Amino acid sequence: MLSVILPAYNEEKMIRKASAEIDRILSAEKIPYEIVFVNDGSQDHTWTEIERAAGENPNVTGVLFSRNFGKESAMLAGLAEASGDCCAVMDCDLQHPPETLVEMYRLWEQGYEVIEGVKRTRGKESALHRFSAGLFYKMLSKAVKIDMSRASDFKLLDRRAVDALLSLPERNVFFRALSSWIGFKTASVEFDVQERTEGESKWSTRSLIQYAIKNIVVFSTAALQCVTIAGVAVFVAAVILGIQTLVRYFSGHAVEGFTTVILLILIIGSLVMISLGIIGYYIGKIYEEVKGRPRYLISRKIERKGR
Ligand code: UDP
Ligand code: MG
Repeated sequence: MLSVILPAYNEEKMIRKASAEIDRILSAEKIPYEIVFVNDGSQDHTWTEIERAAGENPNVTGVLFSRNFGKESAMLAGLAEASGDCCAVMDCDLQHPPETLVEMYRLWEQGYEVIEGVKRTRGKESALHRFSAGLFYKMLSKAVKIDMSRASDFKLLDRRAVDALLSLPERNVFFRALSSWIGFKTASVEFDVQERTEGESKWSTRSLIQYAIKNIVVFSTAALQCVTIAGVAVFVAAVILGIQTLVRYFSGHAVEGFTTVILLILIIGSLVMISLGIIGYYIGKIYEEVKGRPRYLISRKIERKGR
């Protein structure tokens, strides 16, 4: 059985559309499936809609978070709840075309364990969004040493890969990169990002920047290495300036250079502060991990009959 996991945050208009569409496509292909909606603490009627969808179609089930925990947590909760032999994760705004599910499922039948959806085109976005996404993925790909420029959260994972993912103990997860990190026999399927028909994207520029920084820190120590590199650069400058200062001293022109002193204090001061900030951010993340709080809290579930 294929489990389709759909994280949903304020998607009341999309729930029944998505489940009907997925049902139509998978039933036509005779693929046994279940749909797991994860309501990520929506403020609208998403949960009522999920209950309605479950009433109409016994293959639909859902869990409700006690508050908004974010898409990463929602995807993991879906994977934990799913009972399929393979699990697919996709957006419930239908920006990930459900037809691609069939293609992924066929690859899974051929023995692939991780099937990644890669974006052929990115769909409609503002120029600024496209540029910042490009920059983020370039930095991230460098940091994690996996090409992420076309990666998406649209994937199909074999039960073994799902169990491997769920066994990772970390609180701060970055699903998109972790699914490559776990390895397994991998294939990829291209898809075109569709336009959102209802509702709006949950991402503001600010939340995207936070998301980018968080994931670079969560997934790699590259930012810490930047601190070291900056330190080395300043050290090289220090040696050159030091020699110059000594030469001047011995040749008898030592009093000048007040501008240099001010500049040095400013540059080194800011470098030290930025470095502390980077280290502090990592410590913050370590603190979150050490607390060991659960990734999400479930307040309600749709009971499934016969299970
Ligand atoms: N989502 C979620 N929790 C959040 C934000 C988003 O579960 O805090 C879900 C959302 O309902 C959708 C998917 O994640 O199914 C992608 O969100 P969105 O369409 O806003 O992102 P975009 O497609 O613009 O990247
Ligand atoms: Mg979307």
